[in-house]
Amino acid sequence: MADITLSSVGKTFAGAPALKDITTRFEDGEFIALLGPSGCGKTTLLRLLAGFEMPDSGQIRIGDRVMADAQAGTMVPPEERNIGFVFQSYALWPHMSVRRNVSYPLEIRRLSRADIATQTDAALAATGLRDYADRMPSDLSGGQRQRVALARCLVSDPGAVLLDEPLANLDVALRASMQAVFTDFHKRTGATMVYVTHDQAEAMAMADRIAVMDRGRIQQFDTPQNLYECPKNRFVAEFVGRGTVVPVQGVERTEAEVHARVLGARIAVQSGQDSPGVSHVCLRPENLTITETGDLRAKVARVTYLGGKYLLETVADCGTRLLAETRARFDVGAQLGLTITTPWAFLED
Ligand code: ATP
Repeated sequence: MADITLSSVGKTFAGAPALKDITTRFEDGEFIALLGPSGCGKTTLLRLLAGFEMPDSGQIRIGDRVMADAQAGTMVPPEERNIGFVFQSYALWPHMSVRRNVSYPLEIRRLSRADIATQTDAALAATGLRDYADRMPSDLSGGQRQRVALARCLVSDPGAVLLDEPLANLDVALRASMQAVFTDFHKRTGATMVYVTHDQAEAMAMADRIAVMDRGRIQQFDTPQNLYECPKNRFVAEFVGRGTVVPVQGVERTEAEVHARVLGARIAVQSGQDSPGVSHVCLRPENLTITETGDLRAKVARVTYLGGKYLLETVADCGTRLLAETRARFDVGAQLGLTITTPWAFLED
């Protein structure tokens, strides 16, 4: 079992906290993404799981085994954690062929020659590298090098794999095809995967759940759909997807519905069942419809073609910037009406 449990984990560098009181659990076999802006603590969290850093407070467990305990001062070294790593920089041995890069972890474990050959062949085949086995890493493309790093993980049969922005060095087209390689790897191994990225499209495409981080804390840990449709706070609403957060007034709750005044209009809003109240809504493009007589008037400030549709950046009469999507083309300066449809509402901390 490679479920990962963090209890009150904290890490400080030179007096500045990089991680604050992280308590969470990654289930066995889950594909988790750690997503957040630069400096929010993603890599620090990954390095603590790997055993490259010791937490200053709290405890980390993988399965039943305590890997680090700040209070007891104990820490299991990286090589004894049964964890695989995939780095942005590939970290291949430059003087070894592809085959040897992949087989080396088995050589260290002193497996028989026949077992090493069988397992290495299987890992090379699974990552589409059979024809490249005798090449040196310097003769491979970035995507192929990253496949070698994956094959090396696969052959070691780790319980968990930690990936630190593994696609950051690749171009956009290759990134998309490598995402399929990672999801296939995940299905094949059943390993718990923890994937650091600041690319939300990448996180959304691959992860079962995403931990959205900001300033050393996990702001929301949820499925991609829930993060987008039901953000818990302003940070998540603004960081994930497009949209505008605006305050609400005059909230009326009945058993079946919640109504609120949003930018002067009285509209139905959605919120969490157990939410103690609502103070803001997140207006995403799909919550706004262009109509002749809308809830509010707005002027088009910018038009971006998205392929098959346009993104309109509009400014409402009250001065609020709102994003709408439309199949019809509008010109900058056009006046239009916007109707708001049941946006997600939350209580600002
Ligand atoms: P990025 O997306 O830019 O890689 P990140 O979310 O991975 O950022 P971390 O690398 O975890 O962020 O860093 C979190 C904070 O801790 C930052 O303020 C960083 O400057 C600081 N930090 C990380 N490692 C060290 C270190 N070894 N010494 C001092 N400060 C550090």
